[in-house]
Amino acid sequence: MSLSPAVLRSLPTVALHDHLDGGLRPATVLELSREQGLTPPGSSAEEVARWFHDAADSGSLPAYLETFERTVALLQTAPALRRVAREFVEDMVADGVVCAETRWAPHQHTAGGLTLDQAVQAVQDGLDEGVAAAREAGAPIVVGQLLCHLRHLEPTDDLVEIALARRGTGVVGLDLAGPEAGFPAERFRAQFERARAEGLHVTIHAGEADGPSSIASALDCGAERIGHGVRLLEDVRGQELGPVAARVLREQACLEVCPSSNLQTGAAAGATSTGTDAEHSPSAALLAGHPVLRLQELGLPLAISSDNRLMSRTSTSRELALAAEAGGWTLEEVEAVVLTGLAASFIPEAERTALRDEVVLPAFRAARGA
Ligand SMILES: [Zn+2]
Repeated sequence: MSLSPAVLRSLPTVALHDHLDGGLRPATVLELSREQGLTPPGSSAEEVARWFHDAADSGSLPAYLETFERTVALLQTAPALRRVAREFVEDMVADGVVCAETRWAPHQHTAGGLTLDQAVQAVQDGLDEGVAAAREAGAPIVVGQLLCHLRHLEPTDDLVEIALARRGTGVVGLDLAGPEAGFPAERFRAQFERARAEGLHVTIHAGEADGPSSIASALDCGAERIGHGVRLLEDVRGQELGPVAARVLREQACLEVCPSSNLQTGAAAGATSTGTDAEHSPSAALLAGHPVLRLQELGLPLAISSDNRLMSRTSTSRELALAAEAGGWTLEEVEAVVLTGLAASFIPEAERTALRDEVVLPAFRAARGA
């Protein structure tokens, strides 16, 4: 028996892979554009929402990249970064997320004169405000930020320095994003090795625009989780895991799978559109044949996230519901995915354990009894 959408919506979720510059509210795009004298890509929130989704869904790389140029251009001041970070927390809470990590690339946010550290502080201020308001309202949520290196830029030590200086105050780890093919993770190996040696966490986007060798390279550089990783299936024959897939299983390197995003970028084959139905109601047909279903069947460690909520017009709970419906997952299988994500989170262990015992497990127990 498949799970009802109402039950799925009531369950707590974990968002490990959510880009700050990919999750702006359409109304915020409109307001920030007007404040900053930029022309928004639409005159209403609905028009803006549709423009971002359609551009990201068009199959054109320039159109896809333009969506991020637009959001990044709006995030060059401390007040704008702070606002969007606060709204990130509010939107996570509204979506039922109890453990959320937001990621972004500080080097892209200095055009307005902010230093890297000032930009990171602005995001932290917004996250702290959001968390304080959520706690006051009785909503359980823990939040961390991940600082992204960009593959096509020259490796620098500044983000490691900032993350180390801010350890314990909100920065929980580092990521590597940007064009995967042609820019191997090894270029940043020294930075990630240092980060790991100093006790910071590392996740790396891999197995999205490139194959299993890129995932192996990310693991070699110290990645504890893999952003997307769906092309790991190229290292699986029938039930037999190849060396990289076996290593992912052995090391329990959680794959941060973002189903709709994978369809938009072509990392995964599936339905041609990610859906723009008015209700954004989950439709299993959208994910027919998506690698996430096979990865789950094979018992590989994975969590479900949304990547870029604005560009994919989605949310974490919607992505989880889409996958659960497409795969016919049981409540126990959904629980396993949520618990895998929580265990793989870079949030301090004491906070993760408290969330698991006091929020997540009781919620699933209640759902089983319903
Ligand atoms: Zn991503």
